[in-house]
Amino acid sequence: MANDFIRRDFDCAHCEERFGYPIPISLLASESAEIIVSCPFCGGQSLADLTPWADKSSEVLMGDGEAPAPEAIGNRYHFPERIPTTPVEQSDGDSDDK
Ligand SMILES: [Zn+2]
Repeated sequence: MANDFIRRDFDCAHCEERFGYPIPISLLASESAEIIVSCPFCGGQSLADLTPWADKSSEVLMGDGEAPAPEAIGNRYHFPERIPTTPVEQSDGDSDDK
């Protein structure tokens, strides 16, 4: 199941407002936990790299038959009060390659 979210506060990289945004647990369980958040104040998109906040010392055992509880995955992260973000360039094109 990938319907679990934890809500955290982010700093908008554009207007520096603080806003809450749900982070999918499935994202936190993946290797590269990066999320693009949309600011409700200015509409700007920001990229938040969540991997620095993961506690490497408490490994969640994956692929051991049992999936870890969402709480266990969420607790593995030590987020600051406001998660910093970097601006995402907005483009009209939707293609990834140049
Ligand atoms: Zn903003």
